[in-house]
Amino acid sequence: MSAYACPQGGVVIANEQAAAAAQDGAAHDAEDVPRDAPAEPVSPPRPRRRTGWIVALGIGVIALAVGVALLLLELQSMNARMERQQERIEQQERQIEEQKGLIDRKETFGTAMEELTATAREFEGVGVGGLVPSWQLSYLAESAWRHRYDAAAVERGTDEAIALMAQLSTRLMDARSQASGNSTGSVYEEVVDRLGDGFATTSIDDADRLCGADVLGCVDSAGPRTVHIDAAGAALPYMTDWLKTGIAYHEYAHVLQLTNPAPTESALAAFDGDHEWMADCFALTYLDGWSLDHRVWVSSFQYWDVSVGYGRTCDASQQEVLGDWHSQLGYRSEPVAQ
Ligand SMILES: [Zn+2]
Repeated sequence: MSAYACPQGGVVIANEQAAAAAQDGAAHDAEDVPRDAPAEPVSPPRPRRRTGWIVALGIGVIALAVGVALLLLELQSMNARMERQQERIEQQERQIEEQKGLIDRKETFGTAMEELTATAREFEGVGVGGLVPSWQLSYLAESAWRHRYDAAAVERGTDEAIALMAQLSTRLMDARSQASGNSTGSVYEEVVDRLGDGFATTSIDDADRLCGADVLGCVDSAGPRTVHIDAAGAALPYMTDWLKTGIAYHEYAHVLQLTNPAPTESALAAFDGDHEWMADCFALTYLDGWSLDHRVWVSSFQYWDVSVGYGRTCDASQQEVLGDWHSQLGYRSEPVAQ
């Protein structure tokens, strides 16, 4: 029996089979099976249950792998959704920051425009024109609406408003300085400074050469805010302070004409388009006691009969036109809509 190197159970079964075979020996041919012959080797039972476990385990592993893969896909999808959501949040935050920046810039622009318009209003009542660029003020004010979504453009508008305000402030300071002094020490400058609030200046020079004519004074369109007085004319023996005053009025009228071209154009119709006639009328209207003809006594028995101007006085209707013209001159502030 020890010849079978098989599990103990198998041996038992083999012995039982052999015993059964021995018991059945009477019914069978005893000669076919020798009593002492060893039993046929019996194969061990196949491990069926283990195969089942392997299959189950395989299916389980596959199921687990599928499950894990699905879980990974879901996690990936969730991650992508979260990233998109995060991007949207960041974009909204950026937009909020941009809006805040835009609002801040608009407030700064509004403050700059208020200061600019306040500075411009200081020019109201000054007859000299061309001192405040009204078109630029309007353009800047309108740009607030035009550039309402453009922070960089709003910043540029603010810079322009600040630069223009600085320019106007300098002009105001220069005028105050001009009005408070008298660099030529002359009656001419005293009168012109008073009439023009310091925004028109006086130069005593070679006006004859500058204006190309024999004149006592003139204003050149290339520099319309400067009255040129002919130095030789100012030194004439009959030139009195009264005559100088009248001449200054006449020349200042030219400053007003040249720096206020639009209203001047319509007023000139009452003077047949003659600037000189209109300038004489200005002196006659605004300088009490002024006339074009003067007798200037230089001694108790010598005098000069002097005619200043262009020989024509003006009537009441022309003076009314002149008054209307004068009321329209210079800068007039308008409501600025931002
Ligand atoms: Zn003139």
